[in-house]
Amino acid sequence: MERGLYPKASAFKPDRWVWPHFTPLELACRCGKFCGGEYYHDPDFLDALEAVRVRIGFPLRINSARRCALHNAVVGGAPLSQHRVALAVDIDVAGWGDRAAAPCAKKLWRRDLPVSVTARIFCTWIVGG
Ligand SMILES: [Zn+2]
Repeated sequence: MERGLYPKASAFKPDRWVWPHFTPLELACRCGKFCGGEYYHDPDFLDALEAVRVRIGFPLRINSARRCALHNAVVGGAPLSQHRVALAVDIDVAGWGDRAAAPCAKKLWRRDLPVSVTARIFCTWIVGG
């Protein structure tokens, strides 16, 4: 399967989706105004993300994934942010409870994931709620 940009998540054919814990929609741009919800497909990244999800054993809350150019600019993302250039995810770990003792999924599973993929998985703590 090839990498590539889709103008909206629904443009990706469901029969080609083989990552059970995620959907194109939750990984698409969520600006709601600048684009149609564009989605960047990267099967290698999805394989790694799915592996992290299975290893953790509970749902991952994705705060941010693909960002269109304008959305990335509005949220202050770097022009060459992987959220903008391809696909990256910010994982909200605020509700992890005792599991938050672990630094974050990125550090926990770095050794098993290709460098280019771990560099695109970020964890977010929202201090004080
Ligand atoms: Zn957008």
